[in-house]
Amino acid sequence: MSGPNTNFDPVQVTPLEAEQVDQFVTDALAAIAAAGSSAELKQVRIEHTGERSPLALANREIGALPPQARKDAGKRIGQARGRVGQALKAREGELAAAELEHRLATETVDVTLPVELTPRGAIHPITGMMDLVSDIFVAMGWEIAEGPELESEWLNFDALNFPPDHPARYLQDTLFVDPPEHHLVMRTHTSPVQARALLTRELPVYIACPGKVYRADEFDATHLPVFHQVEGLVVDKGISMAHLKGTLDHLASELFGGVTTRFRPHFFPFTEPSAEVDLQCFVCRGTDRGCRTCGGEGWIEWGGCGVVNPRVLIACGVDPEVYSGFAFGMGIDRGVMFRNGATDLRDMVEGDLRFSRSLEGIAR
Ligand SMILES: [Zn+2]
Repeated sequence: MSGPNTNFDPVQVTPLEAEQVDQFVTDALAAIAAAGSSAELKQVRIEHTGERSPLALANREIGALPPQARKDAGKRIGQARGRVGQALKAREGELAAAELEHRLATETVDVTLPVELTPRGAIHPITGMMDLVSDIFVAMGWEIAEGPELESEWLNFDALNFPPDHPARYLQDTLFVDPPEHHLVMRTHTSPVQARALLTRELPVYIACPGKVYRADEFDATHLPVFHQVEGLVVDKGISMAHLKGTLDHLASELFGGVTTRFRPHFFPFTEPSAEVDLQCFVCRGTDRGCRTCGGEGWIEWGGCGVVNPRVLIACGVDPEVYSGFAFGMGIDRGVMFRNGATDLRDMVEGDLRFSRSLEGIAR
């Protein structure tokens, strides 16, 4: 015997009638279809599926129905919410795709807008000059040779015919490395690379050796304790001083634009005869007594050279009766100063990027 359901209120049951529920769904679907953006759709979702939406309120009424009506109402409301949910999801996908397409079509990158520039490095003028010199020799079919900067005293001096008491071996000129009994020095010139080449390579030899060298020198505008040289060595049959002159004229012309060289007699332990080589002034070519580059001389000291001393060939296991050769060496740092108008050697090593940039494009 069941009594009347006191919770049953006919007014509140009304929204659960099929017609009314269909109307809720129709309203919701129309609102979903009308939503023109994701933001609008979000609002529609709140209005038609949120806590205060007609379908949510109707769902809450189910519990108040008499048991016999609950099943039908539950099914009806459940299907209605399902349809609205599906429509929302479908519309959401459509809107997202449309919005993405719109963004892709309208967003463009303006490549003319100014950007913040990242600081750019520069090839150091010494590196540039060494590359340039190397290119000139490689173009003549020579090879580039390298050797260690920490060198044996024998290769740095003895193999090159420096007598044991030669002043270059004194501590004020050469950086010896402890312990003294190991006889190691920071190479004072790139010439040991030539000795190494003669000891290890097949003849004939045509090599250029650009590299870093060390002297116990002051650090000032015209001296550096570490500087750069390029040396050249040719050992072949029938090589004479004339080949040396022609090679240096070619190098001078390529580096400094059509200038020539001249020789002055000199002495070096590793060449005989030996000469100092001067570069024709590439500014005035000897025509201006007031030229600041050459001091009105018309010539600039460039380096040393000569025909390889037979004693050096013998020390390196080459027969001087069959082979002869020439060798030369000059400073790279001074070459950069000549070519680019740099005035203080210290600028070469202080690592100021502005110095490298100011000479960029000139060194190469
Ligand atoms: Zn001059």
